[in-house]
Amino acid sequence: METELLLKSYLKRLKLSTVAQNYLKVAQEAAQGNLRYEQYLLALLEQEVAAREANRQRACIIQARFPVAKTLDTFDFGAVPSLHKAKVLELSRGDYLANKEVVFMVGSPGTGKTHIATALGICACRQGKRVRFYTVAGLVNDLTEAQVENRLGKLQTALLKPDLIILDELGFVPFSKVGAELLFTFCAARYERGAMIITTNLEFASWTEVFGDPRLTAALLDRLTHRSHILEFNAESYRFRESLRRREALP
Ligand code: ADP
Ligand code: MG
Repeated sequence: METELLLKSYLKRLKLSTVAQNYLKVAQEAAQGNLRYEQYLLALLEQEVAAREANRQRACIIQARFPVAKTLDTFDFGAVPSLHKAKVLELSRGDYLANKEVVFMVGSPGTGKTHIATALGICACRQGKRVRFYTVAGLVNDLTEAQVENRLGKLQTALLKPDLIILDELGFVPFSKVGAELLFTFCAARYERGAMIITTNLEFASWTEVFGDPRLTAALLDRLTHRSHILEFNAESYRFRESLRRREALP
């Protein structure tokens, strides 16, 4: 009895909650299987490590603030023939993160850009990388607010920390001159210092319409497209097709 109490108290102090939960059950199994002491200890520690890893991944996915959790295994690549599955799978292995490269996902609405961007983000979380998902409008909003409140520098420093920043929906909303400049400064600062995924419905030729200033746009594109990956999503809207299919299925 005393042994059990002491064990529980030590395990608590050492924050070995999975060991605390499982040690009795695993001890019974070890006795039945004639395991050596080392094997028993190994089995317990393996469970602790696995539980911590799962918790870490869960926390990372929460911190990334994905709008909806989406994964590669639920994506129908057949619906987007222009998208190279092999290229997406290669990206999912994460070399672009270490190389601090930019991935563009270009295509019309409903073709799965946010889905694939999120899925790659979740792969990165599983690899122990820090990820942050923003809509472009949300990021510009945060940057503008920070500037007004005199804490822009702090936010800009914080934005260099994640291994991957996903910028979703560039081109949906045009922004003010100040907004465009803040976004430009952000992109220029992250360039070669951290990976980015940028999703957009715009051809590169139309970027000036969003950023306003042609020179600023040219400078930005010059940096971002240097050593970048471009995924093209040319397809009918998946959402639209799904709703048609559902309607056809109705009596
Ligand atoms: P986009 O960002 O290009 O506008 P989304 O990624 O938001 O498109 O896709 C719209 C919806 O359709 C989402 O729920 C997404 O999961 C789903 N979807 C899009 N394309 C596919 C696909 N090829 N396979 C499975 N689901 C898809
Ligand atoms: Mg989207």
